[in-house]
Amino acid sequence: MRRSSTFSSFGGRDRQGNMSGGARGGGFGGGSSRGGFGGSGFGAQRKNTQPGERLRKPKWDMAKMPRFEKNFYTEHPAVVNRSPQEIQKFYIEKQITVKGRNCPRPVFSFDEVGFPDYVMETLRRQGWTEPTFIQAQGWPMALSGRDVVGIAQTGSGKTLSFMLPAIVHINHQPYLERGDGPICLVVVPTRELAQQVSEVATEFGASSKLRNVCVYGGAPKGPQIRDLERGAEICIATPGRLIDLLEAGKTNLRRCTYLVLDEADRMLDMGFEPQIRKIVEQVRPDRQTLMWSATWPKEVKLLAEEFLHDYVQINVGALQLHANHNILQIVDVCSEEEKPFKLNRLLEEIMGEKENKTLIFVETKRKCDELTRRMRKDGWQAVCIHGDKSQPERDWVLHEFRQGKAAILVATDVASRGLGR
Ligand code: AMP
Repeated sequence: MRRSSTFSSFGGRDRQGNMSGGARGGGFGGGSSRGGFGGSGFGAQRKNTQPGERLRKPKWDMAKMPRFEKNFYTEHPAVVNRSPQEIQKFYIEKQITVKGRNCPRPVFSFDEVGFPDYVMETLRRQGWTEPTFIQAQGWPMALSGRDVVGIAQTGSGKTLSFMLPAIVHINHQPYLERGDGPICLVVVPTRELAQQVSEVATEFGASSKLRNVCVYGGAPKGPQIRDLERGAEICIATPGRLIDLLEAGKTNLRRCTYLVLDEADRMLDMGFEPQIRKIVEQVRPDRQTLMWSATWPKEVKLLAEEFLHDYVQINVGALQLHANHNILQIVDVCSEEEKPFKLNRLLEEIMGEKENKTLIFVETKRKCDELTRRMRKDGWQAVCIHGDKSQPERDWVLHEFRQGKAAILVATDVASRGLGR
């Protein structure tokens, strides 16, 4: 079954043709005035130090906001009929994990996605055989209007994971009117990434005549402003320059209903959190938000929880922090009975020539005490630390270990951080 009907059933606009379905309202907020968000003269001398200080947070009256459509997805029969075992096998083989309520199933081929012809034509031209893992799961998530967190590296095909659903989303919204800002905003950490995303948007947006504008720091503002004024459905921006242009009233985010935060971890590392907050604040709260990151540290998670609603999450590959490549990691999978012998042998190796300091992590407090007792009996200078020890006791143990008076510290995860100090 072809699914062109899926994408035209929402009164959306066929960009090669006319509006279909019911009448759509004009632009959001109408009018052609720009700069409604407190811009006060571009290039004005800055006295403020906070990014976007002159940007006021809009008061969203959701009852008065024009409604917009964000779910364009109908599962292909092949996807509907696929057994849970097959899907599980796919997840395991591809090292994909998904989380979240009612997560849509993955697709196994381009045809199963149900992209409209104007997207499929460009996809076919690439000569690719199948969706990448992140696309296989990310497209159904994004096309069904869900907020998405994607943990994936550059090179995984993530740009198209958010860009093709963005193109479908835009094609189902009313045309831009004079003075309207973008419908899709992609916030990225660097100029290079902005340009890469822009190339993809240009290639895949051409068939439905979508324009994109790329705004980033370190380049003259004039041409970027002219592109914005000409009108662009997609804006790809680094945070600082976007804030400048918003403050100056050269664009606005009143029409923005599809927001992408790309390489969120890198943006946080680069100190862009205040700017990101300011930008997100300017976008209507019922937008669709997609956040991409190569890693999933606590800071990124907190941001996701704050900016995304009821999100679905996809992780491709390693879930957590990356291992430090300067440290040789050896994993020895063994039975419980083998452990004492193996540990003794390992300690003899480590402590052989000089007293190397050794940390041993165990899961439980009981195991921590038991192991320390046994090791001391075997003649090792071991001390231990866990949650039941009093603070003076913990301080004393850490002091002994730091001074090298006890070379082996056995610990539960109370000691997993901060020992380096
Ligand atoms: P990205 O992770 O978005 O930077 O994409 C990495 C590269 O993968 C780009 O050069 C894309 O053109 C390419 N690519 C994206 N999707 C596919 C696919 N389904 N099959 C093969 N290559 C792809």
